[in-house]
Amino acid sequence: MTSNFGKDWKPQTALVHAGTLRSQFGETSEALYLTQGFLYDSAEAAEARFKGEEPGFIYSRYANPTVDMFEKRMCALEGAEDARATASGMAAVSAALLCSLKAGDHVVAARALFGSCRWVVETLMPRYGIEATLVDGKSVVAWEEAIRPTTKLFFLESPTNPTLEVCDIAAIARLADSAGARLVVDNVFATPLLQKPLELGAHVVVYSATKHIDGQGRCLGGVVLSDKDWIDENLHDYFRHTGPSLSPFNAWTLLKGLETLPLRVRQQSESAARVADYLAEHPKVGRVIYPGRKDHPQADIVAQQMTGGSTLVCFDLKGGKSSAFAFENALSIIGISNNLGDAKSLVTHPTTTTHKNLTDEARAEAGIGAGTLRLSLGLEDAGDLIRDIEQALEAA
Ligand SMILES: *Cc1c(COP(=O)(O)O)cnc(C)c1O
Repeated sequence: MTSNFGKDWKPQTALVHAGTLRSQFGETSEALYLTQGFLYDSAEAAEARFKGEEPGFIYSRYANPTVDMFEKRMCALEGAEDARATASGMAAVSAALLCSLKAGDHVVAARALFGSCRWVVETLMPRYGIEATLVDGKSVVAWEEAIRPTTKLFFLESPTNPTLEVCDIAAIARLADSAGARLVVDNVFATPLLQKPLELGAHVVVYSATKHIDGQGRCLGGVVLSDKDWIDENLHDYFRHTGPSLSPFNAWTLLKGLETLPLRVRQQSESAARVADYLAEHPKVGRVIYPGRKDHPQADIVAQQMTGGSTLVCFDLKGGKSSAFAFENALSIIGISNNLGDAKSLVTHPTTTTHKNLTDEARAEAGIGAGTLRLSLGLEDAGDLIRDIEQALEAA
């Protein structure tokens, strides 16, 4: 089995070739190794492999050749030393957070988190004696003020769901360093192409590969990326013994997704920018938030840390919930779904779906109103999407 890796490759090249393990048959497409275990040539070989004296696979909960290709390709894209692929984005987030923490430790996290991430921080971790302080992630001062002697981890998402606010990753990473803590960034909304948290000083990056990396609405997956020492010391044993492993079939699907990721993210971001500009001029639309627009509340930070505006747009309809529902129900191309990053354009009403469990005050604090909608742009023609939005706004 041979592996290739060019360190000077551009993302487009790495995403087609990096990490490929080609078998003796010389297949062009990556091979799918649907196997749980691996045979050893002798008892001595099994002993050597278990001792780590000889390379090779042992059991697919630990590692599998197809999953390995996905991890290596993600490392090449992210500029990370090592990675572990997981069965879902939440398996990646919970592993990244829990693998290094113990009772008595303290975590600072941005309040604007994906719902399940917030549950892990706010509800699960305290059961095990890990305390968390939730802060306004936009405010670097708030992060600084939340630091305690026991603070071990910072956790944030940027841009946030659904209001696409951004956190100053470089400044927050410097604070983490000065506190002796590690910064974990959930980079789903930016995609690995538009924002590089490790280059900005973050220590660990996590993805739900379910979103743009698959990008075609097929399977769940996730990945945690960091330096080799952190993974060896923290994630390695946690991962092997708790078993959040990615299935080889899903790894193969995600590898195929990575090949087209740059094409898709570019087109989806271009469509998002056009739709955001269209919405901003419409009389029924209040606020439009798109990180690629000059009127984004933190346009200066966007310019510092992102190379594109993302594939999502958030906007408010002036008529509140009834307008938002009428708009959603009148759409004919864009589907109603809480998913994102798909080839199909999708819209969601956070107040009644993804963010329904927040209190009214928490939603108001997060800038989510009754008329707020989040739109994930797909691969359809942008003109067709704008015509669909135009006719749905008439109904709103
Ligand atoms: C979807 C998502 C997750 C969870 O990923 P799953 O693959 O659904 O488990 C975590 N964080 C963010 C920002 C997400 O969008």
